[in-house]
Amino acid sequence: MQPNLIYLDYNATTPCDPAVVDSMLPWFYQNPGNAASKSHPFGWKAKEAVDQARNQLASLLQVDDAEIVFTSGATESDNLALKGVFEMYGRKGKHIITVKTEHKAVLDPADHIEKRGGTVTYLNVNSQGLIDLNELENAIRPDTVLVSVMWANNETGVIQPVKEIGAICDKHGVLFFSDATQAVGKIPVHPRESGVHLLACSAHKMYGPKGVGALYVRKRQPRVKVTAQLDGGGHENDMRSGTLNVPGIVGFGKAAELSATLMDAEFQKLESLRNHLETQLCEKLEEVWVNGREAPRLAHTSNITFRAADAEALINTFNQQIAVSTGSACSSASLEPSHVLLAMGVAEDKARSTLRFSLGRFTTSTEIEQVIEAVLKGVSKLRELSPLWMLFKEGVDLD
Ligand SMILES: *Cc1c(COP(=O)(O)O)cnc(C)c1O
Repeated sequence: MQPNLIYLDYNATTPCDPAVVDSMLPWFYQNPGNAASKSHPFGWKAKEAVDQARNQLASLLQVDDAEIVFTSGATESDNLALKGVFEMYGRKGKHIITVKTEHKAVLDPADHIEKRGGTVTYLNVNSQGLIDLNELENAIRPDTVLVSVMWANNETGVIQPVKEIGAICDKHGVLFFSDATQAVGKIPVHPRESGVHLLACSAHKMYGPKGVGALYVRKRQPRVKVTAQLDGGGHENDMRSGTLNVPGIVGFGKAAELSATLMDAEFQKLESLRNHLETQLCEKLEEVWVNGREAPRLAHTSNITFRAADAEALINTFNQQIAVSTGSACSSASLEPSHVLLAMGVAEDKARSTLRFSLGRFTTSTEIEQVIEAVLKGVSKLRELSPLWMLFKEGVDLD
């Protein structure tokens, strides 16, 4: 990575692990085969490589190889899960349940489904970002076909009670889809034992390449099907046509294998760096809040609100030396305050004064010390100039 720049935006994308890059290289030129070519060794070798990668990912998820559908990323997997279930099970019902804090790659397909005659219930979350299981169970109707709840939130790292949700869905005979893009490779994610029927993940959030993802589709007890959203040669069990991205898939497999061996140590290392960052900032600054702090969280994600320090302005004080994100980064160019924080009951001005720090495999403690220093300086500087902060200091209740 670039020297002198500190990358703390791993939830937006991770760098490829160098071992992943090495695993991919032979599949660009030396072995150029199409995995669907059945009449020559180029095709056979490509298929073998894809099979191996499928097995590496399936092993990480503890599912059968045949339950993995490769896609172009989690956005496609989310679309395939929601629209694919809606179309496949339309005769049973047209109601789906999801959550206000989902990623746009779930919320936008849900919106699409509403425009196509479906109905969608959006569950609330509490101040820690967690759904209420009673609210979920009460929302299930006879015509409900799908519950879609993400495994871990990309902005806050908050982990939903997936097993409990799975049990409720099982009791009511409703399919359960989870966007686990931020969780796979970071914490144990085992859809079968958690009662998850469909699950999305993406290589570039777990040290693999961009443009490759997967959808797990359960094959037994029950056998789940989704209507393909891309028609073509019938690849991937007729669920996702299109020539497979062999180098990308090989890299995804390698990334899955690596994360299985590194996961525990990495979680511990990142949790301790993240906790240090949070305790230092909370100790040394007044009026700082870590969003979702009381909930189970991913180890590497920290979402922090700094009163009277506008997020964009705060980032500007870093002079392009530190890569972090405002809560709104995932909605591309929009400067809307984060829908995730608003759903957690964070006020608009506070949501606009929030940064997401996401750490990863290559983060060092020296970098964290530098970031702490930069944030302390930046926040203090902005507050010196802030009329809002002056009011607060004069004892005005701003909440
Ligand atoms: C990044 C992300 C996506 C989108 O994944 P792509 O592979 O970039 O399409 C979807 N959901 C969550 C939770 C994410 O973090």
